[in-house]
Formats: sequence, structure tokens, C-alpha cells
Amino acid sequence: QDRLEMLGVGQLVAGYGAEPVLHGIDLQVRRGEVVALLGANGAGKSTLMKALAGLHRPITGGIHLEGRELKNMEAEQVVAQGVVLVPEGRQVFPELSVLDNIRLGAFLQPVDRDARVEEQLQRFPRLRERLHQRAGLLSGGEQQMLAIARALMSRPRILLLDEPSLGLAPKVIAELFAALDRLRQEGMTLLLVDQMAALALSLADRAYVMEGGRIVAQGTTAEIAADGALAEAYLGGA
Ligand code: ATP
Repeated sequence: QDRLEMLGVGQLVAGYGAEPVLHGIDLQVRRGEVVALLGANGAGKSTLMKALAGLHRPITGGIHLEGRELKNMEAEQVVAQGVVLVPEGRQVFPELSVLDNIRLGAFLQPVDRDARVEEQLQRFPRLRERLHQRAGLLSGGEQQMLAIARALMSRPRILLLDEPSLGLAPKVIAELFAALDRLRQEGMTLLLVDQMAALALSLADRAYVMEGGRIVAQGTTAEIAADGALAEAYLGGA
């Protein structure tokens, strides 16, 4: 076992009910590392992210966080262990205020909640300006920042981000990735799925490529970018 390993996934088979979508996934994320997960629509990226977050019970295989088995834990216990998912489509509560949405991220540890809210408002000043507005009135980019702020409230050890740039304008995506880069510089460990593969790789140390519920390639971002077929498939030939 790798001493630096934070999250380890071994031969994971999971899906919807008894029907597997993931056919034996092996994946590893080290402490402080940013790992990108690439693959076409339907490859199983979201299914894997949800399985890691405890939202799908794996059929076989293991999920470990620093050696501790997470596979049989409920989603709430997985959050308490420090694995937190920012789901595809953000899923903020549109009728609640920005502040209440952020506070919800601390539901497991209400102690020093206000100090943690303040940390997030320093990180995302735009949210402070809109603190008492309904979250449903925010722009897509602001909602994404809100979803990340909410996730950070539980002080995760690893943050799982599923398609954070989806539906956002290029300028907003640049802001979002700048915020993710700051998180990375603070030492946060990230596992990132994003259709903007070149951008995801620009942030990442390593990447895995999924196809049909399997990992079909992996390597450092330089290795992925230097592989002609992969670069053509995922980086638009760039
Ligand atoms: P996308 O970028 O489109 O979200 P993805 O790589 O994240 O793609 P998944 O969403 O994980 O892929 O889907 C993988 C497979 O699981 C697909 O074949 C899909 O049809 C199937 N699937 C997804 N959601 C469900 C569900 N709720 N019930 C049954 N099958 C599902």
C-alpha cells in the first residue's frame, strides 16, 4: 500500500440495483493530489463519483480512505470521514438563502459553524454580496461556488467535483478554475470530472480515462497529453 494514498479504489463493481455500470475500477488519489477523471458521456464517471460518496452501494470491491473501508457506510458517514461530493448540477436549495445553503454544509458539525461560514465568504466574496438572497436567484457560476462552499463547510479531506463547469460561460469557468487552483494550493485533495478536459488536465497532476465502466488509460497529465489517440479523443486533438 502506498504511504501517500488518500483514497484507494480496488476492483470496484457498482451500478444501479444489481446491474453493474462500473466493471472493476482501480483508482488511487494521493494526499494533496488533483486527479482528473475523463471519459465520454455514459462512461460511468458520475456513477463512480456517487459510489465514492456512498450514494450507491458497491456490489463488490473496496473503497478506502487512508486505509479505512468506506464501502458499507451510508452517505452521511462517508461525509463524516471527509469525502464530500459536489454533485453534477450543483443541487443548491433554490428557496433557501445563500447563507442557509452554506450553513447546511455543517449539519454534521454545528460547532464553530459561523467561523467556517466566514472562511467560505472570504474565499468566495461574491457569495457575501448575495448572502440573504434566495439561492435560486444566483447565476450558474455563483451557484457552483455556493455548492463548493457548502461542501467545504464539513472540512473535507478530499473533494469530489462532478462537472463543475457544466453550463457556465467561459469567463465564469476561468474564475471557477482559479478558485479550484487556490484550493489545490492550500493542499486540498481533489478528484475532478469535467468535460473541459484540457482545463481539467491543466489543474491536475494525473488523470484516468474511463470507457464503458472501465479505466482504459491513466497517467500523468503530461503522459495523457502526449498520447496522440487520447489527446485527439479528449483534448480536441490539441
Ligand atoms: P455523463 O457525463 O453523461 O454524466 P457519465 O460518464 O457520468 O456520463 P454515468 O452517468 O455514470 O456516466 O452513466 C453510466 C451508465 O449508467 C450509463 O449507461 C447510464 O445509462 C447508466 N445510468 C446512469 N444513471 C442511471 C440510473 N439512475 N439508473 C440506471 N442506469 C443509469
